[in-house]
Parts: sequence; structure tokens; C-alpha cells
Amino acid sequence: SASPGVAAPATAATPHYDTSFATLPGFEQLKLMHAATNAFGIPNPFFRTHEARAGATSVIDGKEVINFASYDYLGLNGAPEVMAAAHGAVDAFGTSVSASRIVAGERAFHRTFERELADVYGAEDAIVYVSGHAANVATIGTLVGPRDVVFHDELMHNSAIVGAQLSRAHRRWFAHNDLDALETMLAAERASYGRALIVVEGNYSMDGDAPDLARLIDLKQRYGAWLMVDEAHGLGVLGPKGLGVFEAQGLDPKAVDIWMGTLSKTLASCGGYIAGSKDLVDYLKLSAPGFVYSVGLSAPATLAALTALRLMRQEPERVARLQANSAQFLAAAKAAGLDTGAADGHAIVPVIVGDSLKAVVLSNLMLDRGVNVLPIIHPAVPNKAARLRFFVTAAHTPEQIDATVAILKEELPNTDVFIRKLAFAGI
Ligand code: PMP
Repeated sequence: SASPGVAAPATAATPHYDTSFATLPGFEQLKLMHAATNAFGIPNPFFRTHEARAGATSVIDGKEVINFASYDYLGLNGAPEVMAAAHGAVDAFGTSVSASRIVAGERAFHRTFERELADVYGAEDAIVYVSGHAANVATIGTLVGPRDVVFHDELMHNSAIVGAQLSRAHRRWFAHNDLDALETMLAAERASYGRALIVVEGNYSMDGDAPDLARLIDLKQRYGAWLMVDEAHGLGVLGPKGLGVFEAQGLDPKAVDIWMGTLSKTLASCGGYIAGSKDLVDYLKLSAPGFVYSVGLSAPATLAALTALRLMRQEPERVARLQANSAQFLAAAKAAGLDTGAADGHAIVPVIVGDSLKAVVLSNLMLDRGVNVLPIIHPAVPNKAARLRFFVTAAHTPEQIDATVAILKEELPNTDVFIRKLAFAGI
């Protein structure tokens, strides 16, 4: 045998260890998809390059297009007040706080922002992380462990699932918004575990629909669980003042244990937050890995988001405009005979078109007609439920919405024509 520190020579008995990246799961499929889209002459709709600030309109390939692919729900990305706050923050504090707040990064603006976020929920405190994804992973990963259980909706965002996996808690999912199924699971299984956490979204990102929050609060109280609501797509979108799902459903936000949100959508920045009791926030500040071992939020990101939050609260007419635009889009799409799935008309409107190829082709046809909207394809959704997903914002005009739905209605049949031509050409 080889002496210590000296590699043994390879022999016939040495097993073959795969060190290639190209054999990773899914890689072949990815290459095939690229080859297929190239062969079909279909441009890849993903990673389109925007050449300027993407708001209600954007510039792609030198052409101005109507844009439905930004989560800038209240049109605050680029609002003069938000831009000025970010510029001022850079001048005063630079571009980074350079280290974790626990050792070197705390600034007064962090606490100001956290207090104002907590105030949205009537909560005792809040904590901000450098991304919404990190907020979910670090929070869920920290709060529960192997003796515990996480119940979540089947459409729950990846970040919450990854947090649950990190925690090593047992994980149970229920069919989308099926709270009878959740109750059945709680009744059968709750007693087998230590702590239980129920995780849902306030406004689901695939369909733009909401859960029955009152029922969830009742369930979490009766079965002794924590309730966590991800408001990534609820803040600025739901309720007369845009405070979120609790405001829309007329409920006391204090009944929810853990409010989660992101700064990347309505708040026109980058980061994520958790709001709740002082005990919760104090605990996370000392133990959530994405907070303790990660850099504090930068000054421009914090002050842009703080300013956007203040604008949201001072100018509820932005929320009203978003809600009117969303309702208009949904009504027009339904009137045009399009399949909008479970959408309730809360900023996100899916148009389900069939299989993935059809959604990709339609997205490209829409771009040719001056509308940027992205396809959601298998495996993100079942293959037959592939769709275009429209993010409506307060900044869209009624004319842009009507024009888009009219173009969509015209181009949908052309998708089949295009695909038939490909088949005819033997591609
Ligand atoms: N939760 C939900 C429901 C989301 O849709 C997203 C991102 N789209 C996140 C969390 C993660 O937020 P971020 O992009 O700020 O990391």
C-alpha cells in the first residue's frame, strides 16, 4: 500500500469517480433544449438582455418594448425619491457595509428600516437579510430541526423548501390552497412532532392567488403550530394600502407568527426581511446563518427600500392603480377567451397556453410584436400547464394593457402555425 501522503497508483480496481460537471443531472436536457431551440431557429427567451432600466417599458435588442417581466409592482424602481436616496446613501456610506452587522456592519439606517418594516405588521421587530431567498433559507433552517415538521403548500417558493431541507425537519406538502388537506394532515400527524411550522405565500407567484388566511390562523392556533406567510408578492399588491394579505382579508397581522417579505419587488431594491415578535427577531439575529455569517445590507439597498416603503405608505394611489391595472388585464384576458388559470387578478396574471414549446414560441412572437413576457415551462409547472406570466405594475397604462391582450389573442393561433411549419419542414 502507498505510504502516507503519497497517492496510490491507479489500478484496474480503482473505482471511476465522476468529476465532470457535464454529467450532472439535467445537463443533457439543458444541452438538448439549446440544440433544439437552435435547430428550430427559436431564440432562447431566457436571459434576454435589457439595455436600460426595465419598468413598464424596456429596451431589448435596441427596441423599446412593453415589459411584463419585472416585479416592480408600484413602479418605484427609478422613482426620483428612491434614486436620490440611493445616491445620497452612496455618498454618505459608500457601496458596502463590508461585514456582518454582528461584528462590524451595524448602521442606524438598518434599525430605522427594520422598525418601519415591523410597523407594517404591527410587529415588535424585524430583521433584514441580503436577499429574500436568504431570509427564507436562514429563518426556516434555524427555527425547526429534526424532531419538528414543516407543512407547506405545493406551490411554495423554492427558498422555503430549501430552508426546510436545511433544517432537517420532516416536510409535508398539501395541494395548492387545499386547507382541508392541511387540516387532515395536522389532525393525523401533528402529535408526532415537536414544533410545527406552516408556510404559505400571501399571493402565489405562479397564479396570483391567495390563501384563506383566517382559516390558516384558526388551524395554527388549534394545532399548536407557527404560521409563516411569505409576502414577496403581497406587499404593495394586496389590500387598500398595499399592506398585504392580512389587510386584504381584514385580519389582525399579529395573529401571524412570522411575516416574510423581499425588498426586490415592490420595494425596488435587493434584500429580504422577517417581522414578528422581539423574541423571534432577537433569536434570528444571533442564530440565523444568512444573517450572522453574511454581510449587512448595503446603504444604497437599505435607503432605496426604506424610501420605497415610505412612498408606498404615503401614496396609496399607486396601490389603487396597480389593482385597477391588474383587474383590467384579467378582465381583458378573460374576455379574449384566454385561460388565466386560478388568477384572482393580483398583479400576476398567467396565460396558460399548453406545452412548453408553445409557451416559448409565443413568448418570442410577443417580443417580435413589442411585448416582453416570459414563459414558465416544465418542470416549473406541469408540461401541459406551460404559460406566459404577466407581472402587471402601477406604471403600465390602460392602453399598454389593452394592446398587449389584443396582440396575445392574435399571436396565440400563430403559435400553432409556427409549430406546424417546423413539423412540415421536418425539424
Ligand atoms: N419568496 C417568493 C415567494 C419569491 O417569489 C421570491 C423571489 N421571486 C423569493 C421569496 C426570494 O426573493 P429574492 O428574489 O429577494 O431573493
